[in-house]
Amino acid sequence: MPTALWMQCGACGGDTMSFLGMGAPHLPDFLKELNLTLWHPSLNRWEHGAYAQLLADLRYRSRSLDILLVEGFILDQSGESGGFDTLQGEPKAAILRQLASWAGAVIAVGTCACFGGIGKLGAVQATGLQYHHRRPGGLLGEQFRSQRGWPVINLPGCPVHPTVLQDTLCAVCENRLPALNNHQAPEDWFGILVHQGCTRNEYHEYRVEDSDFGGPGCMFFHMGCRGPLTYAPCNKVLWNGRNSKTNAGVPCFGCTHPDFPQEHPFFHTPNIVDVPLELPDGVDRAHYLAYKGMAAAAAPDRLVKRKSRV
Ligand code: SF4
Repeated sequence: MPTALWMQCGACGGDTMSFLGMGAPHLPDFLKELNLTLWHPSLNRWEHGAYAQLLADLRYRSRSLDILLVEGFILDQSGESGGFDTLQGEPKAAILRQLASWAGAVIAVGTCACFGGIGKLGAVQATGLQYHHRRPGGLLGEQFRSQRGWPVINLPGCPVHPTVLQDTLCAVCENRLPALNNHQAPEDWFGILVHQGCTRNEYHEYRVEDSDFGGPGCMFFHMGCRGPLTYAPCNKVLWNGRNSKTNAGVPCFGCTHPDFPQEHPFFHTPNIVDVPLELPDGVDRAHYLAYKGMAAAAAPDRLVKRKSRV
């Protein structure tokens, strides 16, 4: 029976909430199907001292650990104490290093655990498991490999989508490493842009833009939508099987990106003379501007009129 330990570090608990809210199958059935023993702070009731004993068993290798899941950024204070986030007086950074060296696979759950995420807004030094934002390294270092010879599997998102976690756990329990992209996130889920599959694509194409929430138009030029820059499955696998931010008329704010959160305010597109500073990933500025000018002039009436009716 495979075993997994879920550790929470600098986390809001959002990834746990997402995980607990898994749809079909529900979490208890899913764990049964995988035959997975999962130790999780929100799922287990610990008798006094039992958690400390479990941790000691795992750290000193008297129990096997197939999967280590980490939620939240790690307060490392490189070379210093790491003492802002401790467990029974010991920095979690030290405990994680030890557990990771012994685990079959290590999974970073959520953007904070992957890249440091929200941790960069704080006064203390926070990092991800194997990345510090877009720079490889993080707590475990670029060369880290788990017992199975795998790098950390990054599942970014604020929070991670439960289907992504579910699918990755299935693969890992079958001893399969999913194909990873250049930030070590599964290609199947993070190989496409939020923009691909957005219901507003035709508006983007003709530059029919919104400047307020809830309209039908594209939100790239005025409302800070980062869909064309963000690799994530939000429009491939909808939340609660129903919706995504962009479907609902709220701009994507790029929560799976290694640099999340961005420096400038959400819902605002930094621009020069109405041209966004950041263009869709891989797009050449000169060609994009020429194309957008022509596309706006060619916008069909049905799009322009639909937008003006809202
Ligand atoms: S709203 Fe965002 S994701 Fe949707 S088409 Fe516009 S830029 Fe792309």
